[in-house]
Amino acid sequence: MPHEPHAPLGFATHCIHAGQAPDPSTGAIMTPVYMTSTYVQSSPGVFKDGYDYARSKNPTRTALEANFAALEGATHAFAFSSGLAAMDCVLHQLRAGDHVVLSDDVYGGSFRQLDKVFRHLGLETTRVDMTDLPAIERAMRPSTRAVWLETPSNPMLKVIDIAGVRRIVDAWAGKATPSGGARDTTLGPLGTPLDAPILIVDNTFASPYLQTPLALGAHVVLHSCTKYLGGHSDVVAGALMTRDAILAERLKFTQNAVGAVPGAMDCFMLLRSTKTLHVRMQRHCENAATIAAWLAQHPKVEKVIYPGLPSHPQHALARKQMRAFGGMISVVIKGGLEPSRRMLERVRLFSLAESLGGVESLIEHPAIMTHASIPPDARAALGIADGLIRLSVGIEDVNDLIADLDTAMK
Ligand SMILES: *Cc1c(COP(=O)(O)O)cnc(C)c1O
Repeated sequence: MPHEPHAPLGFATHCIHAGQAPDPSTGAIMTPVYMTSTYVQSSPGVFKDGYDYARSKNPTRTALEANFAALEGATHAFAFSSGLAAMDCVLHQLRAGDHVVLSDDVYGGSFRQLDKVFRHLGLETTRVDMTDLPAIERAMRPSTRAVWLETPSNPMLKVIDIAGVRRIVDAWAGKATPSGGARDTTLGPLGTPLDAPILIVDNTFASPYLQTPLALGAHVVLHSCTKYLGGHSDVVAGALMTRDAILAERLKFTQNAVGAVPGAMDCFMLLRSTKTLHVRMQRHCENAATIAAWLAQHPKVEKVIYPGLPSHPQHALARKQMRAFGGMISVVIKGGLEPSRRMLERVRLFSLAESLGGVESLIEHPAIMTHASIPPDARAALGIADGLIRLSVGIEDVNDLIADLDTAMK
């Protein structure tokens, strides 16, 4: 099954139908879970539609990848066993001596992979506050081959101008010096060094319902499908999407050569999840907007960080770049650590847990939980105060969620 081009259909229609057709053998309306590791060949080397071995291709995964491609307006999508496995695939496109410019508050696991795995393999990294475009310009080097950003960011919900970053990346394409090592055709697609920087956008926090970075100039989009795409806190998976045929060829080669693919059951569950992505996201956004406005007038709240509030420093950019403002809210509670710890112990409907993007509401304390590995002064520089709490607003009845927060803050 080839990936479908971005047809002139609405997003909701893509969510439900893209990549999926009734099963040709029975008419089953849902894509079957192809639990198979291999496929029978009629003659040596003769098999159907590229299905020879299930690491390389599985029909449930093919349907999911076509669905993902349509959601992001991509020509190609690739599914992985986790968001970090997707990251690993894209970073293999670089080689020793190449340089990566990274937004300063990326997901901790993404920073760890660059800093502890790919640094050891010779990649260099510079972190910058990407709300400051001239700072990105200053961080670029002739050896830069990737600019990596998340928007909105975690947990400060900074909004980064994707089209603006792409202009900087393009300006540097002509200044790139050749990567270490010449072209080596014996290496297959990875034998050709990247000759210019690529822009990679982690779209996990927004989901394609809120923004489609490929349309704003990203070369590659990354998802942790563990979050909004999965949406039910029951699958760990990742994805990459692109419109660039040459990059797609490299990513496909790497997906198979490294092999961090998801199982058929996980693909099935994600296909089921994306059918409701648009309705879930709509409710996440409505609930979060209501809660952000309620928190903003609460006497025990020092500050609410939500891209939909006019007080957010990049509110105008968020209005321009995003279709709505998402389900994530960060809030600073007056009095620092102790009052915020008490609040986290007292919530009943919100669950105290890491992760985000599920239908159920979660609450967490970045300084103690998700961002504890960052040294206190670096945390402070990023604005991660001891009173900072992060909410992943679910799709429960919003009045119940507000009542839960209200009781916990008393
Ligand atoms: C969770 C997350 C990841 C990592 O994804 P896994 O599926 O946990 O491997 C990457 N980026 C962001 C923004 C995330 O929230």
